[in-house]
Amino acid sequence: MIRSCLPHFLEIHKTMLLQMQIPKRINYRLIQSLHHSKVGIQAPTFGRETDDPFYVDVPKPRRRKSDRKPYPTPMKVLIRKAREEKELRKAHPCRLLEHPPDDDLLIHELISVAYQVYRTRESLLVGIPKLIQFIPVLRCRFCFEVHTGPVGHQIRTCNGPKSGLRRAMHVWRKGDVQDVIHFPKCYHNYDRVGKPRAVHNERYTVQCIPAVVELCIQAGVDLV
Ligand SMILES: [Zn+2]
Repeated sequence: MIRSCLPHFLEIHKTMLLQMQIPKRINYRLIQSLHHSKVGIQAPTFGRETDDPFYVDVPKPRRRKSDRKPYPTPMKVLIRKAREEKELRKAHPCRLLEHPPDDDLLIHELISVAYQVYRTRESLLVGIPKLIQFIPVLRCRFCFEVHTGPVGHQIRTCNGPKSGLRRAMHVWRKGDVQDVIHFPKCYHNYDRVGKPRAVHNERYTVQCIPAVVELCIQAGVDLV
């Protein structure tokens, strides 16, 4: 009895398994048909696969994970622009040293201030040597300490080389105008619009001028 019922039981079990797999197959076929059909649901393109001019600058997504992340501006375009700028610089070397910037870059209220600063620097350079002739200025040989007067002070604040051997006493010598007032220098910017910064190869051709003068020139002082 048991032996006769066993094949029947196996058939029932098989049909049950097939009925359970049918919905999965139907679902798989539906997905396949939607995926391959032209009318099916498509992912939003956001204008990348179309010729929409609003999305021209948007980089295209990577198709594979191994692809490199795209630059906003293609590297070939950047290289081409750099070459064009380099050739342009060679064709048009530096302009006059004291050429003021274009009028669009100036703040008109600051032009008078710039002239005032420039004249003040000139008066300093003229007036300080006259004062030093009668009022001596002393400068330490080993540090940046400056003293105004005929005899240097004895305050032990020297931090120059081997100051420990002197018990931090300064060693005074006669000072100069540059010990009283110092103007640090910077590279002159010839063209702020076309070429905002100098490159390393121009370190011997671009001139260094006092930073105060450069500041006045960029603010509108015309020294020509
Ligand atoms: Zn010193």
